[in-house]
Amino acid sequence: MSETNEYLDPRFYALTQPNARLERLHTGSLWCEGPVYIADADIVLWSDIPNDRILRWTPTGDVGVYCQPSRYANGHTRDRQGRLISCEHGSRQVTRTEHDGQITVLADRYGGGRLNSPNDVVVASDDSIWFSDPPYGILSNYEGHKAESEQAGCFVFRLEPASGALTVVADDFVRPNGLAFSPDERVLYISDTARSHDPNGHHHIRAFDVVDGRRLENSRVFAVIEPGVPDGFRVDTDGNIWTSAGDGVHCYAPDGVLLGKIHVPEAVSNLTFGGPRRNRLFITASSSLYAIYVAQTGAQWP
Ligand code: MG
Repeated sequence: MSETNEYLDPRFYALTQPNARLERLHTGSLWCEGPVYIADADIVLWSDIPNDRILRWTPTGDVGVYCQPSRYANGHTRDRQGRLISCEHGSRQVTRTEHDGQITVLADRYGGGRLNSPNDVVVASDDSIWFSDPPYGILSNYEGHKAESEQAGCFVFRLEPASGALTVVADDFVRPNGLAFSPDERVLYISDTARSHDPNGHHHIRAFDVVDGRRLENSRVFAVIEPGVPDGFRVDTDGNIWTSAGDGVHCYAPDGVLLGKIHVPEAVSNLTFGGPRRNRLFITASSSLYAIYVAQTGAQWP
């Protein structure tokens, strides 16, 4: 029996490896975030935001600096063409790393003002890019550059990469943060992590119906995360939501039931499914990168 996995619902046994062991793959960072698995290279990239760098892990165990400075990059994902999409606190923009290494700025302004500090990002099957824009990168000089917000709020955006059109899809979050689609893309989950700077702030994930692939309707609170905040999360191919929390990774069924937990000795910020079989969770947690095998596979590109 695993000492790492905590089973709160019998369904969690089928989703995990009961004898799985949590591995710490790297430590020594200040604050890790934004893990992304690069399948064709079999590597994991993740951000060490205060150190202004992106790290790279390989299956041989080697860890090196992928890039530094990283413009205080935070969340990453890949588009369907396999290009890296990154949220950058320092430059207050969303970028795409082309196959030749060139950086394309996809979004840096809305309504005449600079973005706050794009945080996390997902790509839909129609190539649209959805990202959150809380102010964590401009609150101080720790995770970016201290500055005043030039936006009327903390929005969630939908970007059409072909035209560059940027639209607000949610404007009533205090601190929008992680986001992920259900496998059929009919539901978008978005977290509010206002508790990070306000003990009475939100620490929940909301669910929205996605209408015409463009708009969000029917907002409802899907799960309240305790302890900690749902900074980042991913969805598996059966629609279960694996989210960061203060004591590890929490797994929720699509019906909102908390199925179980994977305990991690540091506060978790984010995670991604990776490995050649997509059955290994790579977990960024405070100063470290962890991994654990599960019995599910991720529903994410590519
Ligand atoms: Mg985040």
